[in-house]
Amino acid sequence: MSETNLKENEIKGRSLNELSKLCHSIAREKGFWDEKRNIGEALMLVVTELAEAMEAYRHQDDPHFNEEIADTFIRLLDLCGGLNIDIEDEIFKKAQRNKNRPYKHGKIC
Ligand SMILES: [Mg+2]
Repeated sequence: MSETNLKENEIKGRSLNELSKLCHSIAREKGFWDEKRNIGEALMLVVTELAEAMEAYRHQDDPHFNEEIADTFIRLLDLCGGLNIDIEDEIFKKAQRNKNRPYKHGKIC
């Protein structure tokens, strides 16, 4: 199997929407969208990446922790690409709402 390397400039300095398109195109190339995607399953796979990050944290394995955080973003960005979510616009709108909420949103933690 031949290896295809990404170039750093395909990732670094790119917008979230650009990364979403890239992550989704890689996932499509690898066949993860060949059939209709089960969105619940895709969401739970994001959670599994967070669980892997938690395990790495418990073992104080920083490189593995960082990799699992990256996996989490990659899965989320792939999902955004697959569902045509403009994640930059969604974050903009939600951050604006959050900015106008009260201290700790009225909760204790
Ligand atoms: Mg992982």
